[in-house]
Amino acid sequence: MEKNYDIIIIGGGLLGCATAYQLAKRNAGKILLLDGNEIASQASSRAACLLTRARTKPGLMEIVQETYDCIEEIEHLLGESLELQQCGSITIASSEASLKEVEALVNAATRFGIPNERITRERTQELLPWIDAEAVDVALYMPTDAFIDSALLCSGYAKAAAKLGVELRPNCKVKEIVTADRKIAGIKLCNDEIVSAPVVVNAAGAWANLLMRPLGVGLPFTPVRSHFWITEIDKKRFPAGHPFTVIPDARAFTRSDVGALIIGLRESHCQAFNPDTLTEKLEDFDFNKAAKWTVLDECAPLLKRYLHDIDDLPIAHYMSGPSCYVPDALFIIGAVKPYEGLYTVTGCCGGGVAAGGGMGRLAAELILGEQPFVDPIRFAPERFGEVNPFSPEFQQRCADARSNKKGG
Ligand SMILES: Cc1cc2nc3c(=O)[nH]c(=O)nc-3n(C[C@H](O)[C@H](O)[C@H](O)COP(=O)(O)OP(=O)(O)OC[C@H]3O[C@@H](n4cnc5c(N)ncnc54)[C@H](O)[C@@H]3O)c2cc1C
Repeated sequence: MEKNYDIIIIGGGLLGCATAYQLAKRNAGKILLLDGNEIASQASSRAACLLTRARTKPGLMEIVQETYDCIEEIEHLLGESLELQQCGSITIASSEASLKEVEALVNAATRFGIPNERITRERTQELLPWIDAEAVDVALYMPTDAFIDSALLCSGYAKAAAKLGVELRPNCKVKEIVTADRKIAGIKLCNDEIVSAPVVVNAAGAWANLLMRPLGVGLPFTPVRSHFWITEIDKKRFPAGHPFTVIPDARAFTRSDVGALIIGLRESHCQAFNPDTLTEKLEDFDFNKAAKWTVLDECAPLLKRYLHDIDDLPIAHYMSGPSCYVPDALFIIGAVKPYEGLYTVTGCCGGGVAAGGGMGRLAAELILGEQPFVDPIRFAPERFGEVNPFSPEFQQRCADARSNKKGG
């Protein structure tokens, strides 16, 4: 490792690696990316991997489209496939409220040119052999939606960034961000070695606020628990590559996984974590210590009308991890005042796989002073004023933004 860089990125998950790629693509100079663990080994290897295109919040469809564009570019640059699975998606409505959501999605998708069509119960049953189609009032099919192995995508960004000249340092933890007179000076490693740079990007995911605290800055998010279950393999009922579903009335999503079904369920009271309690590696963190298994008791009955035998389905795996939630459920991207040269790209709100490419692009454009491709105001780190992400009250605000999540 050299002693001086133009830009240092802390965090080798989807958001740090996508930012590195976007900066390198723009010839942003000498860039170093460090991760305390292996690249792509933390939250970014635990996702359900949905790349949901249609969104109703401003700017998000552009951001997700950028991820799809990055996948194509990177495959071309590296000459290898990132194994995008274009399975399509089906959003299912069985109530007035969710019908309204479907209508809003149709409008947004149509405006943005995303193919979408309402399909009959028969067609729904054909595409989703596991579903009890009688429970489906309206089904909206979007054939170009896809999923992708999130760790493979993250490694793709990292490899592409490295090919364009970024230096990658896995297993190299940053002890602190170093400043002088309210300007960024660089970082200090755990062996107390200093590496200099006028720009530091904090993309340390769930841990990002631990690096901000000594600077007296709080980023407006807290890590909350996201999770899903995977059934045993039953290739006839859960054929590989069938469309993923979003079922707002059950606060659920599903997708195919090599002949099994992935089932995501969202509880009414989401579990938040104080960043102070996080371990260095997620493998050592118990996501269920506080909330145990009451989630299944609460949420499985909601899905039962669509999947009648959910109580008896053999479950083979359970996956949980942190999503970084913000009170308005929007990302945190941009300059962190009052330090000149300090930036962040975090607050993924459970969408870093779908949105990572666009989040990285916006971060790169803001760092380089380019015209941003979406309005950055709504993602500004300071939009909530001063916050204390270590206070239980603030953590509760963030958890409330995630509780009862219905979308994809
Ligand atoms: C169960 C689950 C399901 C999900 N499903 C989806 C989905 O379907 N679609 C979707 O779009 N998103 C989904 N997500 C969200 C997605 O996984 C995240 O948005 C994404 O992984 C966030 O990436 P990140 O780079 O912020 O975090 P991470 O991947 O955690 O990366 C942060 C990195 O920073 C490093 N780091 C921390 N502190 C330091 C330090 N001091 N020095 C050096 N390195 C440091 C860590 O080692 C880590 O590798 C899901 C998440 C979970 C948990």
